[in-house]
Amino acid sequence: ADVWASTPQAPADPIFALTAGYQADSFENKVNLGVGAYRDNEGKPFVLPVVRKAKQILAADESLDHEYLPIAGLPAFVKATGKLIFGADSPAIKEDRVVSIQTISGTGANHYGGAFLERFYEPWLGKSKADKVIYVSNPTWANHKAIFNSVGLTPVDYPYYDPSTIGLALPKFLDFLRSAPQQSVFLLHACAHNPTGVDPTRDQWEEIAAIFKERGHFAFFDCAYQGFASGDLDNDAWAVRHFVSQQIPLLVCQSYAKNAGLYGERIGALNLVATHAGSSPGGAERLRSQLLILQRQEISNPPTFGARIVGMILNDEAMFGEWKRDIGTMAGRIIAMRERLHDLLVNELKTPAPGPNGWDHVVKQIGMFTFTGLTPPQCKAMVERGHVYMTGNGRISMAGINDGNVEYVAQCFDKAVR
Ligand code: PLP
Repeated sequence: ADVWASTPQAPADPIFALTAGYQADSFENKVNLGVGAYRDNEGKPFVLPVVRKAKQILAADESLDHEYLPIAGLPAFVKATGKLIFGADSPAIKEDRVVSIQTISGTGANHYGGAFLERFYEPWLGKSKADKVIYVSNPTWANHKAIFNSVGLTPVDYPYYDPSTIGLALPKFLDFLRSAPQQSVFLLHACAHNPTGVDPTRDQWEEIAAIFKERGHFAFFDCAYQGFASGDLDNDAWAVRHFVSQQIPLLVCQSYAKNAGLYGERIGALNLVATHAGSSPGGAERLRSQLLILQRQEISNPPTFGARIVGMILNDEAMFGEWKRDIGTMAGRIIAMRERLHDLLVNELKTPAPGPNGWDHVVKQIGMFTFTGLTPPQCKAMVERGHVYMTGNGRISMAGINDGNVEYVAQCFDKAVR
């Protein structure tokens, strides 16, 4: 008998299906706005100059071998990664309360973050999967729910995006935070919310944090775009640092896929913040010991190459400066494309806008993605008539727009909404 006879066919990943459609399309001016990876002004993948330099230094270093890394990861990387997100002068870092572990990029960090909470989050002890609820924004990165489900949590939506304004549904979000049971776990996008590009302002983050503090909620920060949002690493870490300053219990997932262009190297980190250093109950050493067990069970030892590159950049002042410039190049190009697209739609084509605030959301939204406000049939028209590939929820990757195609993309928008 066939031992796999009952294995069902899984649905194809919608983003990968979109890419396949793009690749099979022979139309000359086709555009791919589905993919979540940065492209330069020629539409090509971008190797950051500082990464190129780091690779040359590594290639010339004959002392490097291919031994296993420690279970927690490359020490130079692990020590520096928490400082990048929390800030070197963070009270959590100074008091030795941060526990960091190298992960398989942001996906691995989310997976461990969920698994760690599932095992050890005190308010959940003895509870069943149905009661281990992690609240995620509606909408969120498509993989969040799958990841949390796979580690025994139950993802549940909280209100976040308001389609009528193409902006933040702040009052509903705050009400939800207030009425959720005490010590609930909320996933927050640290910056550059995916897929909407809608981030709270600093004032709004302060309101959100105040309710977390009052209700004892736990903040599960996913930070996949530090630096990529505004072009400034510290600016994009503001929300996380504010929550730390308010002593809100939290963890932070980091990815260096986007901000260092190291998509395929799978380099990231999970950072837990303990209430105190040391090995007494609740202490950082206890958390560290359990993270090491988790890592050992899942992958034994993390991969070396990406950790060496990022570790070198984070620890060398000159290279760190170069990295900031490279981040500025990427974020700056995206911001310029937002302005150009906005200008074409508003001033040249006078395209009817999908929301009450005109096309302002195109310039107001942050990071890799814009939630255009286009309806599913309009998105379909973009793909089928314009050969502009985008997901049916109206999300476009700004990274796919460049000087060579921005006018064509704007014209397709114009035709799709009229
Ligand atoms: N979290 C968010 C919100 C993302 O958008 C992404 C990538 O698109 C990730 C996490 C994880 O990416 P990676 O595993 O490539 O670091």
